[in-house]
Amino acid sequence: MRNAIGVDIGGGSIKVSLFEETGKELKSLVSPTPEHLDNQSFLEILKDTIRPLIPDAIGIGVGSPGPLNNEQGIMISSANLQGLKNLPIGEELKKEFSLPVWYENDANCAALGEAYFGVYKDTESQLIITLGTGVGGGFVDKGVLYSGYLGNGIEIGHTTSVIGGALCGCGVHGCVESYFSTRGFLNRYVEKSKQTLENAETFFRLVREKNPIAHEILHFGTLALAHAVRGAIHLLNPEAVVFVGGITKSYDLFGKVLESEIRSNIFPVLNDRLKIGAGGSLSGSLGAASLVFSKEKL
Ligand SMILES: [Zn+2]
Repeated sequence: MRNAIGVDIGGGSIKVSLFEETGKELKSLVSPTPEHLDNQSFLEILKDTIRPLIPDAIGIGVGSPGPLNNEQGIMISSANLQGLKNLPIGEELKKEFSLPVWYENDANCAALGEAYFGVYKDTESQLIITLGTGVGGGFVDKGVLYSGYLGNGIEIGHTTSVIGGALCGCGVHGCVESYFSTRGFLNRYVEKSKQTLENAETFFRLVREKNPIAHEILHFGTLALAHAVRGAIHLLNPEAVVFVGGITKSYDLFGKVLESEIRSNIFPVLNDRLKIGAGGSLSGSLGAASLVFSKEKL
């Protein structure tokens, strides 16, 4: 049996699961992580959560938010786990469990999981775009993840769609993420109405209720996203563009405009063969485990 462990390091918890090569989940363990932890105590929690699943595994895949160094297996820092700095995840897990370990940005893991087990798994190459608090992305070609130099590639959320536009969390103006993401929608809404919304659900409820401000923000954001995706399609020429992440729950509110704006602005030769749509909602730990299945094949 070729089973792999997938580790999803999130803001408040670590989820570790064991998967068969078919994507079937055999077992899962979750440990909460207190907000203030130093490197040593975080690594102890991580190893204790993984340990019970080790006897049946051929390798460990780990995903976390960036910035990170995938070659050295180091988490450089974490916005949600402030006490961690230059955390040697790869080295520590290899030493402890004597198994191969791979470590990538969580958006890249999600992309790989979607490419292996998602709606468009039978296409040759997939550009996967994660729509959530921010906008992330990953590109998988013939089953191999393109992660960029040291693992911080395909940051499509921080490509510019409006020159001199709204200020993004990264400190630059006009990123697509400042127009189409939970953070972007809420910030644009405050700007236009002086009212604060609680979360993405409230924003999309207003859109459904035909609130003109929310509607306009979503419409402009959809066009901004479409043009960022257009640029990425011309760069990468994927067979499929797949949208995943929490915001795709409301795909019925923007999917049609998004797809038609993309299709009417790319080269006709690409358009004929391109597939575009929403993906499944696969777990982050399955994405991380896909790293093992993918690297084992190389
Ligand atoms: Zn940005």
